[in-house]
Amino acid sequence: MVRGAARKKDLFWPVVLLAFAVVAGVACAGLTLVSEFDRAAARREQSVVANGIRGRMNEVAHLTDLEVVWDDAVRHLDNRFDADWARDNIGTFLWQNSRFEDSFILAADDHPIFAAYRGHAADAGLYTLFADGAPSLVAAVRREEARRGAAAARPRLGELVTDPNTASALAAVKGAIFILSATAVESDFGKAVLRGRRAPVVVTAMPLDRRFIEGFAQRFLLDDVHLHTGSQAARQGMGYVDFHNDRGQYVATLTWAPQTPGRTLLRRMGVPALCVLMGLSACIVWLYARARQAARELVASEARATHLAYHDGLTGLPNRALFQDRLGHALKQLPRTGGALAVYCLDLDRFKAINDTHGHHVGDELIQKAGRIMASLCRAQDTVARLSGDEFAIIMSPATAAAAVNLAARLTEALRAPIALQVGSVFIGCSVGVTIVSDAGLGAADVLRQADLALYCSKEAARGQFCFFQPEMDVAVQMRRALEADLRAALAEGTLWMAYQPQVNNRTGLTGVEALMRWRHPGRGDISPAVFVPVAEECGLIVELGMYALRRAFEDSRRWKSLRIAVNISAKQLRMKNFVSQVMGLVSEMGVDPRRFELEITEGILLGDDPDTHAMLCALREHGFELAFDDFGTGYSSLSYLRRYPINRVKIDQSFTANLGVSDDAEAFIVAIVRLARALGLSVIAEGVETVAQQQRLMAAGCTDMQGYLFSRPVPAAEIDRLWAEPRRTILAA
Ligand code: C2E
Ligand code: MG
Ligand code: MG
Repeated sequence: MVRGAARKKDLFWPVVLLAFAVVAGVACAGLTLVSEFDRAAARREQSVVANGIRGRMNEVAHLTDLEVVWDDAVRHLDNRFDADWARDNIGTFLWQNSRFEDSFILAADDHPIFAAYRGHAADAGLYTLFADGAPSLVAAVRREEARRGAAAARPRLGELVTDPNTASALAAVKGAIFILSATAVESDFGKAVLRGRRAPVVVTAMPLDRRFIEGFAQRFLLDDVHLHTGSQAARQGMGYVDFHNDRGQYVATLTWAPQTPGRTLLRRMGVPALCVLMGLSACIVWLYARARQAARELVASEARATHLAYHDGLTGLPNRALFQDRLGHALKQLPRTGGALAVYCLDLDRFKAINDTHGHHVGDELIQKAGRIMASLCRAQDTVARLSGDEFAIIMSPATAAAAVNLAARLTEALRAPIALQVGSVFIGCSVGVTIVSDAGLGAADVLRQADLALYCSKEAARGQFCFFQPEMDVAVQMRRALEADLRAALAEGTLWMAYQPQVNNRTGLTGVEALMRWRHPGRGDISPAVFVPVAEECGLIVELGMYALRRAFEDSRRWKSLRIAVNISAKQLRMKNFVSQVMGLVSEMGVDPRRFELEITEGILLGDDPDTHAMLCALREHGFELAFDDFGTGYSSLSYLRRYPINRVKIDQSFTANLGVSDDAEAFIVAIVRLARALGLSVIAEGVETVAQQQRLMAAGCTDMQGYLFSRPVPAAEIDRLWAEPRRTILAA
C-alpha cells in the first residue's frame, strides 16, 4: 500500500564521463584532422618546390642553349676555335646575362680548351674542380650525340634546331651547389656545319647562391628558405626537398618554413570551438542534473504525498485509512495463520480538559507523547494508529488472549503515569477497549465497532480501565439477529402485505401503482422496508422476500385490469442466476401478462457493468417486463447507464423533488433529465411529490408523471379498488 520509492540507478557520473569523453573525442578528432591537413599541405608544397627546381634547371640549360646552339658557335668554336669569340659570347655573356659563374669549352676529345670565371678568361685547369659532376653530363651528351648520328650534326638549311643535345644536373663543388649543364655545339639554322662527328661541348656552372635561392623563394612564395649542404639534419620541422646529382647521390637539402593551414585554423578557431564544446557538454550535464533533481523531487513529493495520505501529520503514526487497510489485510490472513488478532481502541481520559486549559499546542504535544508511549509498548509488527483527536487504535497481530491482556494492562498503566510536557507534568489516564478476533468472516468495520463498544464499556465502568469485547455488548447485532428471526417467521406466516401507491399523470390521472412491502411487527409496530429489506439482503432472505412481493403483486393485479404495477427488485435478487426463470415460472403459474409490470431497479445493480446483469435485464425486457430506474440521480454515472441499459423509465429520486424551490440545481437537473429522457425515448416520473408547488415546478420542467403523498400515501389494495372504480379516474389529475 505505502510503497517505498524504487531506487533508480544514478546515472550522473556516467553522464559526466560521457560528456568529457565526447569533448575529448571531438578534440582528438580535430587535432588529427589538423595534422592531416598540414601533412597534405606539406606534401603538396614539397612537390610544387621539387617541380619548381626541375623547371628552374631546365630554364638554366636553355639559357646556355641560346649561345651554344647557333650557327656562329659552330663557326667560332668548331670550324675554327676563336678564343676571343668564346670569351665574349660564352664566358662574358653568360656571366653578365645569366650569372653563370664558370663556363668551359671542351674539344671533340672532351679536353677543356677554354675556361672563364665570372666573365673573364681563366686557366682551363679550373675544369678539374668540376671533375665530380661535369664528366658524367658530358658523357650523357656524347651518348645522345652518338644516338642521333651524323644527320643531327648537319641539320638541313633553314631548319631550326628544336631539341638541343643538353644535360643538366646539380653538383656539389667547392663546398657550394651548382646547376651544371653540358650542351653540344650545334647549328641552329643549318648555315654552318660541324667539322666532325663529335662537336665541342660547352659546360656551364651556375651556383645556387643566396641570390638564386631568394629569387626562387620569391617566385614560389616560400619563407625562411635555406640551402643545406652535406647534412639532412635541418629538415626537422621544416618543409624540405633533397637534391641529388645525376648519379643519384645526395648533395643538398632545401628547407623552408612550411605552410600549416591546419595549425593556423586551430590557432584561430581551436579555443572558441573548444569553449563551445565544453559549454555544450556543461549544458548537457547541467540539464541532466536538473532533470535528475526534478525526478528526485517528484519521487520525494510522491513519497511525501503517499505518506501524508496514510499517516497522521501530528504524530507520524498511520491514520484511519492505513489502519483500516492493515486491519482488512490482517483479517484476510486469519484463515491462513489460524490464529487470532487483537484490536484496541484507546481514548485519552482527560485530554479535552488539558487541551481546553492549556491550549492546542499543549494538546498537540500531549498527543505526540501519548502516541510515542503507545508505540514504545508495541512490537514492530503491530500497528499503532491515530484515528482522530485523542482516539488511537492498535492492531496486535498475531495475538493470544494473555498477550492482549498484558498489552492492555501496560497501556493503561503507562498512560496513568504522569507525562512530562513543556508546561509541566500532566496526569491523563486512558480507557482501552479490546476485541480479540479469530473469526475471519468479520469485516474491518465490525471489528473496529466491537473494539469501540468495548471502549465505551470501559469508560462506563470506570475511566483508566480496559475492557474486552463481549458479544452481549453488541446490541445492534442482537437486534438485527432478532429482526432476522422475526422476518423469517413473518414470511413463513405470510403476515407481510403489500401497500400500493398511485402514480398519476397530470392529464389522464391514475396510470399505475407502486407495490411497497409492509410489515407490522408484533412488538415494534410498523417497520420500514428501508430497514428490513437490507436485513433480508444480508441474511439471504431477499430471494424469498422478493418472490413473495412479486406473487402478491401478480395476485393483486387481477383486481385492476390494465393498471400498470411497479415492483421493486433488489440488487441481490438480480444477482441470482435463475432469477429470470423463477419470475417466468411465477408468471405462467399466475397467468399474468408481464407487460403490465414494471420492475424497479436501482443504480447499484448496474455499477460494475456486469455482462450477466445486462443480459438478465435484456431477457426481462424480451419477456415483456418494463424496466424503471429507481432513485435516479443518487448514484454514479447515471446518464451513461441510460444509454447502455434497456430501460423504459426513469424515476427521479425524491431528494430532487424535495429540493425543488430550495436549490436551483434540482430544477436544472430535472429539466436536463426530462430533455435527455425524451431524446432517448424514455418516460420520466418524479417521486416524493408532496406539495402543489413541487407539482407545478415539475410540470414546468416538462415532467408529467408523478408519485407522492400529494396524491396518495401507499395504501392497501382495497383503497386502490375504490380509486380504480371511480367513473373518472382523473380525480387525481392536476
Ligand atoms: P422506493 O422504491 O424509492 O419507494 C419510495 C419510497 O418513498 C417508499 O417508502 C414510499 O412510501 C416513499 N414515499 C412515497 N411518496 C412519498 C412522499 O411524497 N414523500 C416521502 N417522504 N416519501 C414518499 P417505503 O415504502 O418505506 O420504501 C422504502 C424503500 O424500500 C423503497 O424505496 C424500496 O427501495 C424498498 N422497498 C419497498 N418495498 C420493497 C419490495 O417489495 N421489494 C424490494 N426489493 N424493496 C422494496
Ligand atoms: Mg421504488
Ligand atoms: Mg425511489
